Parts: sequence; C-alpha cells; structure tokens
Amino acid sequence: MSLIGGLLKEFGDHRAVLDLLDAAGDAVVLLENGVVAGASTRCPLPLRDFLCEGSLFLNLFHGASSAQVKQALERAQAGRTSTVYAPFTFESELHLEWQFRPVRLAQRPLVFAVGRDISHHRTIQERLLQQATHDALTGLPNRLLLEDRLREAIEVAQRSGVGFAVAALDLDGFKKINDGLGHAAGDALLQKTAARLKQTLRQQDTLARLGGDEFVAIFPGVDKPAAAMHVGQRLLDALREPFTLLDYTMHVATSVGLALYPAHATLDHRLLAAADEALYQAKDAGKGVVKLYAPEPGPALAKIPALEAELFRAVQKKELSLVYQPIVDAQGNWLGLETLMRWHHPELGTISPAEFIPLAESCGLIQLVGAWALQQSCLDVAWLRAHTGQELYVAVNVSPKQLRSHGFMPLVIDALEVSGLPPSALSIEITENTLIVDPDEAGKLLNELMAMGVRVMVDDFGTGYSSLAYLKRFSIDCLKVDRSFVAQLDRPGPDREVCMAILAVARELNLHTVAEGVESVAQFDTLKEAGCERFQGWLFAKPMALPQLAQALQPK
Ligand code: C2E
Ligand code: CA
Ligand code: CA
Repeated sequence: MSLIGGLLKEFGDHRAVLDLLDAAGDAVVLLENGVVAGASTRCPLPLRDFLCEGSLFLNLFHGASSAQVKQALERAQAGRTSTVYAPFTFESELHLEWQFRPVRLAQRPLVFAVGRDISHHRTIQERLLQQATHDALTGLPNRLLLEDRLREAIEVAQRSGVGFAVAALDLDGFKKINDGLGHAAGDALLQKTAARLKQTLRQQDTLARLGGDEFVAIFPGVDKPAAAMHVGQRLLDALREPFTLLDYTMHVATSVGLALYPAHATLDHRLLAAADEALYQAKDAGKGVVKLYAPEPGPALAKIPALEAELFRAVQKKELSLVYQPIVDAQGNWLGLETLMRWHHPELGTISPAEFIPLAESCGLIQLVGAWALQQSCLDVAWLRAHTGQELYVAVNVSPKQLRSHGFMPLVIDALEVSGLPPSALSIEITENTLIVDPDEAGKLLNELMAMGVRVMVDDFGTGYSSLAYLKRFSIDCLKVDRSFVAQLDRPGPDREVCMAILAVARELNLHTVAEGVESVAQFDTLKEAGCERFQGWLFAKPMALPQLAQALQPK
C-alpha cells in the first residue's frame, strides 16, 4: 500500500496529510520512534529501496551526517522542527536536505522526514567556490586558497609539532616563450607544467599558481633541510624532459626556492616571502638550482620580497590612503588636484610611493592598488565638487602595466559612473615610458580615453626616452615638466635650457603645461615668464587629505 493510502486509512484526517505531502519535497518518510513507518513513492532511487518499513532511519547515514540526523530526530521528538544537510551515499551521492517535523496523528507522536534534493544548488555552489579559489587556466588553487592552506598547515604544525616546507618556483625565460610563440603556447606550457608538477606531489601536498609563471607548493611534514631539498629537486626533475608545444620541442629551465616552518618564519606571508627570496638566490646561483632560504643581514626595507608580502597585507588591512596636491594657475587659483598615494606601515612608519609603487608594479599588486586609487579619487573629488561648488579636476597617476591591462577602460568607465564625476574632470598621468613600450597599443588606448572626454597628461616629461616626435602621434592634453628641471631653474645651465625648450615645444604643439615641484617665488616667476600655465609645488600647497582640502576650500 502506498504511504498516502496507508495514512488515509489509518488517520482519516486526509486533508492535513495531503496538504503536507503536496508541499513536500522529493522524499517523504514517516517515522515512529526513529523507525520507518512509510515512505512516499516520489523518493528517488536507490534511496527508496532502503526505506523498508520497520528499518532504522538512522542507518541510512554515516559519520557526521548520522550524528546530525540523530540530533534533529531528537529535537523533532521533543516537538521542534529542524533542517539538516545529510547526503545519502550508495554508488553515487544524493545531496539531500532533510526537514524533520513533529506531527501528532491518532494520538501517536510521529515525525515526518521531508528530504529535498539539492544537488543542483550544490553544483552551482561548488562551481562558484571553485571559480573563486582556483586558477581557471590550470585548475590549481589560486593565491586565495593557497593562503588558506598555509594557515591550515600552520595550525596543523602547531598542534602536531611537525613543521612543513614551502617551495616557490618559476620558469626561466617564460616571458620569451609567451612573447615569441604567442599566448596560446604560453598557456599550454603553463598547463603542462602544472600537470607535471602535480604528479610529483603526495596527496597531502598543495600546488598553487599565483599568476604568470609563479607556482608555490606546500609540503606538510617536510621540516628538515635535507628532506626539503629532496622535494625541491623532485619539482626540478619533473620539468627536465623537454616540452612539445605547437610542433616545437623546448627545454624550460626552472629554479626553486624553499623555506621551512618554523625555522625560517612562522607567519604565512613571511614564509611566502622567505621562499621567494630563496628563489631569487637560486636564480642568482644559475639556472636549474634549488636553494633553501638563508636570511641576509640588513635593514627591513632592503628585503624586497618581505616588503612585497607586507604590501599585500597592507592592501587587505587598508593601510594605504590618498592625499591630493593642488594644481594652480598663474594667479594661484586652484584648478585641479593630483592624487598621491601614502602607505602607513604600523612599524616602519610612512613609506614613500616612490619606494612602494615600483614594488607594487613588480609583484603585480599595482592592478589592485591602482584600481582602488582611481575609484577612490573619483569618489573623493566628486564629493569635494558637490561640497564646495568648485569645479576641480583630478589627475590620477597610472602605471604602464595598469594602463595596458584589459581591465583598464572598464575600470575608468565604472569609476566615472559610480562617482558621477564628468569625464572632463578626470585626467590620467602616464609617463613617457608607457608610450615607448608599445606605441600602437598605447595610442589606441589614449584615443579611446580622449573620445570619452578623459584627458591625458605626460608626467615627468623630459626624464624618459621619448622623443618630441612622439607627442604629435598621441592624444595628449598636457605635459608635466619634471621637478628635477624646475629645481635647477634658479641657476643657468642645461636643466634650465631643457625646461625652457619643453615649454616652447608645448606651446608649438598646443599642449597645456604644468610645472611640478615649484618651491620658490623665483622659480614661479621664471616659469610664468617662459609661458607655463599651471603650477604645482610646496610654494602653493603640500599634498593634503580630503578633510583638509574641504576645509581649505571653505569661503573665508
Ligand atoms: P610624481 O607623479 O612626480 O608626483 C609628484 C611628487 O612630487 C610627489 O611625491 C609630491 O609629493 C612631490 N612634490 C610635490 N610638490 C613638491 C615640491 O614642491 N617639492 C618637492 N621636493 N616635492 C614635491 P610623492 O607623493 O612622494 O610621489 C612620488 C611618486 O610616486 C609620484 O611622482 C608618482 O610617480 C608615484 N605615485 C604616487 N601616487 C601614485 C599612484 O596612485 N599611482 C601610481 N601609479 N604612482 C603614484
Ligand atoms: Ca604624477
Ligand atoms: Ca611627476
């Protein structure tokens, strides 16, 4: 007899039972004292075969699920409804979410177990998690998951007293292959590398790709130098055989750097930094070398890889901030603001952008940091305009790598849209070197920016490699005369000549000019005389945080 039929016959109050079953999910089981008293015909196979009347419901589950179901049953028997996720596994896995509801029928305390098949949700959830924590190209864990695994390894090591090793590895000359044979070949090489490296690992090891050709592996339990060197060597050996890519056979050399927990560092980011430093040391020693971290004496700032890790942490901990320096006209009126970044390090104090921006560029963090600076600048200046009624523009420094990344144009569009800042109120400052590296690509980008109404300034003009002929090719609005020339204005000499020449050329090409680093009235007067239109420097104002700016702009 079917469950419904049985219930109707037994309990008479068919409306309540039918309502319940109509609303029910994929499996409905009636339980009396934890024993199956009946099951709906909609129960998916093979679960249905296991739900014989008289069998113990709890026997369907194992491990943690069994404990959870037991608790939920006890709660239901005490009159409370609860829901638990408890998969049923037989040959394959059925992802079921069970609701246990107490019912009193014909004076008997019964429990309805209503199971919903949530396989679909779980697949989506798993896929989203996979995307957020894995690298799409190789399927390996990404930086996020690696950091998680590192923290896990540290916890395990602290409990067990057995340390572990971290290996950093990259491919020598990867860029050459990528540039020479194209990205498809580069991608294929990375996939093959990942597959070979994976084969050398034990089940408990983790291999992650951090981006580009950088890989990191964690080896739990490997805490002696000799054992670490051995696993490092295994990674090297895995890549010794040549690769075949698009009909080419090629040898790819690798270097491996190793760091040990707890001998070399006890914090996750410091361990990564130590492995990275060992990798640099390995590369210095020649190709195809494995090196164990050996700390070098010296001031904290000299340890570049450690500082990179600090910078990564700084982004997460929001230690970076923005200040704005006014750009004025010949009468001293404020026309715009240049955004300058600051890093307030908890131990080292304020670190200059001249120091950490190149670092951010070399370790790939510039994308993250630069995107934030652009968005925040637009928001801040839009607020300032609304608050003070002054139509100031904002000039944001953009690194070559950031400008060339695919995400740059969408980022600009987004920053303008979200802040409501008109495009004409945004300038981006690029250096001459940006134009030199890939002039065609840069030209296209600058045209797109100009078409949107965003202005482009060439920063530090006169210090890079570009020739004046370049200037005509690009959609540029303004030249910024580098501070080093302005500093020499008081004395006759070649710098003064260059400064004058730049101003003359700018006039010829119809470009605006900003002189940077104006500190004295004498410099200001000379620049004005030579036709410079805009000025920036301590003579007028130092860089300021947003609240100070708002205050300075209040009508007196
Ligand atoms: P920059 O773009 O040439 O910025 C001008 C620098 O000159 C700033 O240094 C500013 O504080 C300083 N300065 C301004 N007026 C005077 C003056 O009258 N006298 C002197 N001696 N210096 C003056 P800062 O803030 O240390 O920035 C250094 C460099 O870091 C910047 O040079 C820029 O290249 C880079 N930078 C700063 N913020 C960012 C950013 O958000 N993104 C990128 N990509 N680079 C940034
Ligand atoms: Ca600048
Ligand atoms: Ca500059």
